[in-house]
Amino acid sequence: MTIAENKVVTLHYTLTDDEGTIIDQSDDGSFLYLHGASNIIPGLENALTGKTTGDELKVTVPPEEGYGERDDARRENVPREMFPADAEIKAGMQFHAEGPEGEMMTVTVAGVEGDTVIIDANHPLAGMQLNFDVKVIEVRDALAEEVEHGHVHEPNGHPH
Ligand code: ZN
Repeated sequence: MTIAENKVVTLHYTLTDDEGTIIDQSDDGSFLYLHGASNIIPGLENALTGKTTGDELKVTVPPEEGYGERDDARRENVPREMFPADAEIKAGMQFHAEGPEGEMMTVTVAGVEGDTVIIDANHPLAGMQLNFDVKVIEVRDALAEEVEHGHVHEPNGHPH
């Protein structure tokens, strides 16, 4: 079966940065996505269109087709008191926050200066070229309910 809109695709992938450092990988068949539903970054999704089970490909995704360029306007100074008093806040920590449209986003602590915490709401992979080694493991038709929801329900389900 060929990868197209409304297919559920199982992938093995390794994501590395330009130094070859592994950022993320999945090789146990647990990574599934719904093609055509923006579940994955556009650069990878476009490269997979028309591929089929067993295909292996290397995809280099520039920031504009990945997580976007870094935007300094997304760095912000917030008072230390916005964080729990007993929590140790230091550079490099990441936490989840709700964005302006209710979406979950990852926020990184860029630094701490006295009573001020500098936070960075850029995606941790923003501004990076992403190098994927991908193997297509399985392609199947999406269930009507999956198409309706815009995401895959099997095998690990989706928290509703
Ligand atoms: Zn659902």
